[in-house]
Amino acid sequence: MTSQVRVRFAPSPTGMLHIGGLRTALYNYLFAKKHNGIFILRIEDTDQNRYVDGAENDIITALKWAGMPYDEGPDAPGSYGPYRQSERSAIYQTYAAQLIGQGHAYYAFDTPEAIEAMRERLKSEVNKNPKYDAASRTQMTNSLTLSPEETRQRIESGSPYVIRLKTEPGEVVTFHDQIRGHVSFQTRELDDQVLMKSDGLPTYHLANVVDDHLMGVTHVIRGEEWLSSAPKHILLYRYLGWEAPVMAHLPLIMSPAGGKLSKRNAEELGIPVNVRDYISGGYDPEALVNFLAFLGWSPGDDREILSMKELIGAFRLEDVSKAGAVFNIDKLTWYNEQYLRSRSDEHLIPLLQQELELQNISGFNSAYLESVIGLMKERVSRPAEILEQGRFFFEAPSHYDEKALKKAWKAETPELLLEFLTAVEAMKSYHAAALKQALSDIVEQRGLGFGKLMLPARIAVTGMGGGPDLFETMELLGKDEVVGRIQKALNTL
Ligand code: GLU
Repeated sequence: MTSQVRVRFAPSPTGMLHIGGLRTALYNYLFAKKHNGIFILRIEDTDQNRYVDGAENDIITALKWAGMPYDEGPDAPGSYGPYRQSERSAIYQTYAAQLIGQGHAYYAFDTPEAIEAMRERLKSEVNKNPKYDAASRTQMTNSLTLSPEETRQRIESGSPYVIRLKTEPGEVVTFHDQIRGHVSFQTRELDDQVLMKSDGLPTYHLANVVDDHLMGVTHVIRGEEWLSSAPKHILLYRYLGWEAPVMAHLPLIMSPAGGKLSKRNAEELGIPVNVRDYISGGYDPEALVNFLAFLGWSPGDDREILSMKELIGAFRLEDVSKAGAVFNIDKLTWYNEQYLRSRSDEHLIPLLQQELELQNISGFNSAYLESVIGLMKERVSRPAEILEQGRFFFEAPSHYDEKALKKAWKAETPELLLEFLTAVEAMKSYHAAALKQALSDIVEQRGLGFGKLMLPARIAVTGMGGGPDLFETMELLGKDEVVGRIQKALNTL
């Protein structure tokens, strides 16, 4: 095949984009770019009951943040639009009519109660979940049981109806999945899928197949939860006389606690579910992308840190695993640390600024923030933690760590600290090396260990028992601030 690769990410705007959706988008993106192909964003919004305002925007923001620009989409016009299914309803009607004309679909007028009654009636030991299918459709109210005249009358008089696919029993639908290999389904397991709903809009199945065909999609790459829909799609391609695209169903994302990663169990484990939570949590987009790429795929060597460009170069659908991929948040934290440390201090300023704004802290210039980042970057895995662990850079400690005090605050401490305070106050040239020298002089004179004074000084200045280099920290805070903090500690402790 020489045709250009065209793939699509086709989310339904039924909520905020979740992390599994972003992985699906990523695999599509990597595959497209690997083959110099086209990456399409298609919004599958034909289910009006589940439509969530703002969801489309959220999807677009997430893809842009993650560095996966699409070539065609609602706000990136191409020659296959519109890219929002709600704007394509006339198209689906044409194909539904074609299927009816060819005898592959039919009108059904049954009320939900009538369908429920059929289920109750046909339920038995051998048929536990009766479906609307070849066996039951003969007992229902549809264009196969009514005369053409009655059917027309009902439609003209405005009776609500749906259009169903006429699935023939006793067939086997087979296809080759790029990831799962040979897949086969018995048609008797399928129901007569609703293709057009009573509101005149298509269901996912019809719209998806029609659009994949009309948009020239060559490869359908999507989550495993859609595998059971694939045979219906294959039948639709066959009945519409179209060649089906190559299918590739991605492995499920699993919870570390076992089972599929659901919104609920993710929350219980402290795993953010929505991409927007990673954005607001200050995660590095490249770290998240790198992590997600490895959730079900690996390059087959021992490389772990790969840029988007390298991922594109290495990605192959054949290397995607069939087995579910466990979401390991510690691994994501590790990735984030690697990327955080590789960023320049300057690059991280806006992220720290974002955290400060959230906490209503202001009045610090960029140069100051850059220095804080320089001192804290190696100690944290996310920018938010710079503030969590380095609040003392922005305000004097309001309390002192109990455990640290117990360990470090001894009878002789106030006297030592007072001596240090006097030395600091007298300092002409106030900087880290001088501070360190002053402190060493005091302890050496008395033949004490460094920690005997350094730890209390740290507690006085930061409120904590550990942290970044104390003397650099003191230099950054400035002489007046440090003097004030030591005085306060001496007065309160
Ligand atoms: N609209 C479906 C979804 O929300 C698309 C599935 C597919 O890619 O075919 O995931």
